[in-house]
Amino acid sequence: MKKKDFVLIASVALVAVAALGLSPLLEERDVSRVIVTVDGTEALNVPLAQDGVYDIPQADGAVNVIEVAGGGVRMVQANCRDGLCVQQGETRRAAKSIVCLPHRVVVRLAADEHEQAQTPLDGVDVVVR
Ligand SMILES: [Zn+2]
Repeated sequence: MKKKDFVLIASVALVAVAALGLSPLLEERDVSRVIVTVDGTEALNVPLAQDGVYDIPQADGAVNVIEVAGGGVRMVQANCRDGLCVQQGETRRAAKSIVCLPHRVVVRLAADEHEQAQTPLDGVDVVVR
């Protein structure tokens, strides 16, 4: 009886670990574009696979600097008053957006409708460093 319990618990744990391990991969496969909007207007739309640093300047002097690297994106610099957007760190998922409230800047990840049907390689996290 005791042994049976152990086998049951072990198999449940195994499934849980497998699910946890797979979910980030599945989510990452969904996103391929970095989209930045300023006050609801699209200011930047670049591929997530292409590393780069982008300035998002505004007419009133507000500046946000976004870095795309290794399949993730983060706000590296901002002259907003709270700096919360920089503290939010990196996002690799569509579910987590980076928001700069004072500047009304939103950085989000989205799927690319045109490239979605491509090879699974698109979803692999390639870190070039
Ligand atoms: Zn900010």
